[in-house]
Amino acid sequence: ATTAGVAQQRAAARSAWLNTRLSPEQRADALIAAMTLEEKAGQVSQQFMFGAFEQFAPQVKAGKVGSLLFVTDPAIINRLQKVAVEETRLKIPLIFGYDVIHGFRTIFPVPLANAASWDPAGVEQAQAIAATEARAVGIHWAFSPMLDISRDPRWGRIVESPGEDPFLGAAMARAQVRGFQGPAIGTPGRIISGPKHFAGYATAEGGRDYDGAYISDAQLYNVIFPPFAAAVAAGAGNIMSAYMDLNDVPAVGNKWLLTDVLRGQMGFNGWVVSDANGTKNQVVQHFARDGADAAVRSIAAGNDMEMSFGPAASADTLAASVRAGKLPLATLDRALRRILVAKFRMGLFENPFVDEARAQAILATPAHRDAAERAAERALVLLKNDGALPLTPGAHKRVAVIGAHANSKRDTLGSWAFQYDLPETVTLFEGVRDRLGRDASVETAPGVQMKRAVPSMFESITIPGQAKPEPKWEPQRAEREFDRAVGLAKRSDLVILTLGENEDMSGEGASRSDLKLPGDQLKLLDAVVASGKPFVVVTMSGRPLELGPVLAKAPAVLHAWYGGTRGGAATARALFGDVNPGGKLPVTWPRSVGQVPIYYSHNTTHQPDNQGKRYWDIPSTPEFPFGYGLSYTSFEIGTPVVSGSVTANGRATVTTTVTNIGRRAGDEVVQLYLHQRAGRASRPVRELKGFQRITLQPGERRTVSFPLDEGSVKYWNAAVKGWVVDPGTFDVWVGNSSAATQHAELVVGGAPRSTAGFV
Ligand code: BGC
Repeated sequence: ATTAGVAQQRAAARSAWLNTRLSPEQRADALIAAMTLEEKAGQVSQQFMFGAFEQFAPQVKAGKVGSLLFVTDPAIINRLQKVAVEETRLKIPLIFGYDVIHGFRTIFPVPLANAASWDPAGVEQAQAIAATEARAVGIHWAFSPMLDISRDPRWGRIVESPGEDPFLGAAMARAQVRGFQGPAIGTPGRIISGPKHFAGYATAEGGRDYDGAYISDAQLYNVIFPPFAAAVAAGAGNIMSAYMDLNDVPAVGNKWLLTDVLRGQMGFNGWVVSDANGTKNQVVQHFARDGADAAVRSIAAGNDMEMSFGPAASADTLAASVRAGKLPLATLDRALRRILVAKFRMGLFENPFVDEARAQAILATPAHRDAAERAAERALVLLKNDGALPLTPGAHKRVAVIGAHANSKRDTLGSWAFQYDLPETVTLFEGVRDRLGRDASVETAPGVQMKRAVPSMFESITIPGQAKPEPKWEPQRAEREFDRAVGLAKRSDLVILTLGENEDMSGEGASRSDLKLPGDQLKLLDAVVASGKPFVVVTMSGRPLELGPVLAKAPAVLHAWYGGTRGGAATARALFGDVNPGGKLPVTWPRSVGQVPIYYSHNTTHQPDNQGKRYWDIPSTPEFPFGYGLSYTSFEIGTPVVSGSVTANGRATVTTTVTNIGRRAGDEVVQLYLHQRAGRASRPVRELKGFQRITLQPGERRTVSFPLDEGSVKYWNAAVKGWVVDPGTFDVWVGNSSAATQHAELVVGGAPRSTAGFV
């Protein structure tokens, strides 16, 4: 070789990672070979960017961070990226993450509401739009979806969850990962999906956020893990580990969880990020000795990146820990490689910058807003209707829309929306006013104000663009506002009353000991009842609330969750019959907090009506079962017919007919539940194993079938420590809630056997 040739080869080797003909893995290896220990420690560190460019640019320049979160201004993103790719030795681009939870600029319904749509295709579309908007400002990665199966509504983050059921949760998981990422990581206009919080976070003791969870292996495998396994199978590029202790070991430092289960059994090959300060928290959890120990233990367990407020322990200490022999270099390189592979896959080395001029045109387009409205419509759950709904436009000339959330943009959007004053947000008052146009005069009054006893954590951190909640009313103002709302009710021919919780009453750090309507809302309800005016109730909350007193007095109750940008428009359309509500509860709705935890797929050790099993003061049934929701029309679901049987390779099919026997078009969610009668472990009384949301015209009949295979009947058995199938007779129910009564039997053939794992 000539001297020039050798020099060229050396130069090529020195920057082989820039060669786009190599695979992301080969490029990552080439880059790792060129990195110093300090550069490596910086790349596995991520920081919150609460503050100015000037504060963070030096850290980027010094190679102290490989990723930043919570910056959404494309100009700042480009400036920071410029520092990374022009002013650092190896020019490694930053990857920007953000909580894209239920939309970015266009806000969709909160995740629990999305689950209530039972419409994975719609949810996929919503997250695809969220991804497009986030990518437009330069975000590459969403800390989403949250997949914590939630059976305790005291826990505030139930609002971010897919609800209580692993099968529905898995369907929502797949849909959201596909929505965020598109067909593959690096698809233009899409971003990486990071399901969270792995694992068991929703099972915090007493429903107190961040408290430890004690969960049996069988519960983990059969209830908590399946949505994550589905997300991994759908190609999720990232996973966030949970904050809390799982069976006495912090999730972030839990090798069994993050390496054996997540990678070994589920086949995950992306990178794991800690939750905020999760790595350092191991010290508070009395697990790690200090920050340095915490950084070593999380990375050794399989947590590849540390998310941190302020400088990360990893950036500051990992190089020294490697030098001191406390962490094998190969372990650091393994984590680093996973992160770099993601950066290569996202094309960041080729296209580090975002087109600032184009960003605005992509945010909240009319098409995005329309999609948000359709999503909000699909999430509505009609809880009670004695015929008061739908309302007839024009039948009432003076309409009052009353309640703390009736005209609150913030409470229309729900938690994790951040930009609360967006002009395009349509509240319920605005939705009703726009819907009725000249048919009526529409007025609004809050009547009551609710405040948390302890301010929300989001009030103490400054997020750009975030408005602060209204200060607490003086007692005189509270009285005036109450009287004003009641006066308005009295002057009207129709009252639409909103009841529920403020958006900041659920979400992170928003656990409650009680599920009653906060504040003076029942007093307001009573005043509306006393006015003698016709009224209907719209409930807004991110968790089930104790609604007994409302259900006793209100002729109709429509649950609107937090519907997002067009939530008020969607709800108004449903109230006036343009839309027929078809959502179903993704959680069991308790009568009171004392029933918690209450979920439909429990085991039983007594006959269900056994006196000893029930409370003596209230019925043991919930207020509404999982899967419940009414419609303005009625559906008849026929007896299921089972053909075939489930064997090691064979499938059965369950078929039923659904008929719209009412006078309006509408959606029904047909649900299939299974029950194993006997086997090697006690199994739940019933479990969801299939669902389909269908639209039927009046009089229309449709045949719906559900394929069942070994995956539908397998479960993780604690004695065997693995996945098994117990043959025998299973009960099958189909219907429109978990209280379905249409029954058949299914035969699972063959001998008791072990079967394949998660997928
Ligand atoms: C939450 C995560 C979130 C992260 C970043 C944490 O406090 O638990 O769900 O993704 O903050 O905002």
